[in-house]
Amino acid sequence: MKGYAMLKIGETGWIEKERPVCGPNDAIIRPLALSPCTSDVHTVWEGAIGERENMILGHEGCGVVDEVGESVKDFKVGDRVMVAAITPDWNSVEAQSGFPMHSGEMLGGWKFSNFKDGVFAEYFHVNDADGNLAHLPDNITTAEACMLSDMVPTGFHGAELADIQFGDTVLVVGIGPVGLMAVAGANLRGASRIIAVGSRPVTIEAAKGYGATDFISYKEGPIDEQVLKLTDGKGVDKAIIAGGGVETFEPVIKALKPGGKIGNVNYLGSGTYINIPRAEWGVGMGHKQIIGGLMPGGRYRLEKLASLISNKKLDVKPLLTHKFNGFEHVEEALMLMKDKPKDLIKPVVVIEE
Ligand code: NDP
Ligand code: ZN
Repeated sequence: MKGYAMLKIGETGWIEKERPVCGPNDAIIRPLALSPCTSDVHTVWEGAIGERENMILGHEGCGVVDEVGESVKDFKVGDRVMVAAITPDWNSVEAQSGFPMHSGEMLGGWKFSNFKDGVFAEYFHVNDADGNLAHLPDNITTAEACMLSDMVPTGFHGAELADIQFGDTVLVVGIGPVGLMAVAGANLRGASRIIAVGSRPVTIEAAKGYGATDFISYKEGPIDEQVLKLTDGKGVDKAIIAGGGVETFEPVIKALKPGGKIGNVNYLGSGTYINIPRAEWGVGMGHKQIIGGLMPGGRYRLEKLASLISNKKLDVKPLLTHKFNGFEHVEEALMLMKDKPKDLIKPVVVIEE
């Protein structure tokens, strides 16, 4: 079969591989729609998880079941399914402890385009099919379903990690597709004021639609100074980080009230340490929490997040700025994600509607 792969750090291309083998609990999926991710860019061009040779990229997509193992109960050949980017081993002790995304080892639930071939292939393999697939509702398109693989669950996880409560003033740093879903998640959880940090008009417009109330650009001075000015020196209750780098934590801690929480879902592709400013961290006693987390994955969560779209509480269409038709466009879509033209939020490749 054909797949689009990371050949080595900094290099991608089409390759031929054997169709994956289906174990007793697994499924083989033929993709219906696919989307590249900023994480693919970190992986290939920053070498952020180390060398990977001839590894098929991609972890966002939906598809049709082409084969199932004999122990799979709830899915059969021909079912249209959603697939989360993170596919934990649900019988692991880490999953039992409440951290399925770290099944087996830290980040062990992140298998596609990390520990095994990803979804940018004519067929891809899903472990624990009953736990990691969900039926695609009729009123969700295949392009929309791609946003349920990673953008919705990751952005919403940022809102969960930051523990957004009714009336919170929330800072969302980065309003690419992940940050936009963090804005939407914070809004649904009852934030009163959402200060969004970005620079491109297309993302600012989308953020408005998702509930952001104030806007600042990281290009126009330190984030903390701008936030403190907007909040009469008080700062924010909560913050979600979905953009920037290791240097972004410092201004966010400075902009956070004592007792505040930071949820980070940004993939830190480079740098060695994160600086925590001692004085603004309350000289170690400011009750300012930082939690960074990979999204959980799993069928139950996929079904619940999909029901937000089915029931019109969430619209992911504004994310889909660039649409391609046909599997052969995966390369073009990935290069768009790498080059980030000004009008891009998210590209999607539709193979079948
Ligand atoms: P984008 O690149 O599309 O968006 C990044 C956002 O951050 C943009 O709004 C950009 O502003 C802003 N930004 C860039 N530089 C800075 C800076 N120095 N300070 C503040 N803001 C800045 O990324 P995505 O939305 O696709 O993804 C966001 C992150 O989430 C990525 O690192 C991605 O790898 C990660 N991720 C993590 C996952 C997880 O499970 N934890 C899963 C999926 C993705 P502008 O473009 O307007 O200038
Ligand atoms: Zn992704």
